[in-house]
Amino acid sequence: MELASASRTAKAKDHRSFQDVASVVMALEPSYPVFCLRPEVLEENARRFMSLFPGTVLYAVKCNPHPMVLDVLYRAGIRHFDTASLPEIAQIRETFPNGHAYFMHPVKGRAVIKNAYTVYGIRHFVVDHMSELDKVLDETGGENVVIIVRLHTPPVQAALYHLASKFGAPKDEAAELLRAAKARGCGTGLAFHVGSQCADPTVYRKALALVGEIIEQAGVDPICLDVGGGFPVAYANAEVPPLEDYMDEIRAGLKALALKPTVEIFAEPGRVLVADGCSLIVQVQLRKGEGLYINDGIYGSLSEMAQVDLRMPARVIRLDGEASDETRAFTLNGPTCDSLDVLPAAFDLAEDVREGDWIEIDQVGAYSFALATRFNGFYPETFVEVYDAPPARAR
Ligand SMILES: *Cc1c(COP(=O)(O)O)cnc(C)c1O
Repeated sequence: MELASASRTAKAKDHRSFQDVASVVMALEPSYPVFCLRPEVLEENARRFMSLFPGTVLYAVKCNPHPMVLDVLYRAGIRHFDTASLPEIAQIRETFPNGHAYFMHPVKGRAVIKNAYTVYGIRHFVVDHMSELDKVLDETGGENVVIIVRLHTPPVQAALYHLASKFGAPKDEAAELLRAAKARGCGTGLAFHVGSQCADPTVYRKALALVGEIIEQAGVDPICLDVGGGFPVAYANAEVPPLEDYMDEIRAGLKALALKPTVEIFAEPGRVLVADGCSLIVQVQLRKGEGLYINDGIYGSLSEMAQVDLRMPARVIRLDGEASDETRAFTLNGPTCDSLDVLPAAFDLAEDVREGDWIEIDQVGAYSFALATRFNGFYPETFVEVYDAPPARAR
């Protein structure tokens, strides 16, 4: 039987900080999934991105909004946040009194806009349509409002998601929106998102060239420019260029625009800051041949694997002895009764893995906990901190 939720949370809280993942397993012997946050890795990721990016770094909260994750990023120096809903804005403004939230969702409810503006002091709003611009100006009155126009960018082969398929104004409309926002007394800006886990750095320079065409067409001087997220992570099946290459392309793209030095430049990284800052401990509840039944799956922390082909390093942890050095491919079945709840890619694990063993799955900090459902009564909610090197970096 699983521990009741309250007692398991209390148990994890008592020992929130551990030297390494093995100590977590020894102390908790968890029959429930446990997220292992690596504050040192998260801090390093944030510091590195901030030191390389020529502008202000906004963390994309949706990627992993856990309070412990936000705290570590704040400690590393992140003060600006890409938010998309009132609860995200409230979380940032109430947790960090000097944290800045930006409303980066192109479609917002009227009451939400009004509350964001009046209660939480939000001044930056993204729009991609004239009706949305009207709505934002109606609800805020427009004083000190900065309207950031989200552009449609072409689909990118090298990205895992095409985020511009749902949002973004085409070129002519974007220029018109900029002119309309300017005419109504707002500061203006432009934003795009090339798609998450984008393996091609040149895409950013191309998007910035499009920004230049729109600025010229609109005849408006923007006060800010936002290059979005999409910076990739080196998953086990993903060879990606170094972050420096992305920054080179962005710098070259910005230089070609010859903007005034006062123009603020933003990026909104999510995945690249947090993915390898968390691993997940799951337990094997049954082995059937090459099939393992574990206590987390596609309705819990591992849903992104069902959407796109991501492979993460994983290793077996056993308390009463060593697991075999020989590995074999195993299918991981999630805990819900749904037959879809099976991870699509096999995992290479110790060939003698058995019931009661734990598996540490690495690089699950992004779009994991944030996407978990409560389907069938399973919900990953335990977070601890660990200070060992993550398996992905030990390879
Ligand atoms: C999701 C999202 C991000 C973060 O994207 P990553 O690919 O995780 O870096 C940034 N900006 C916007 C507008 C988003 O929707």
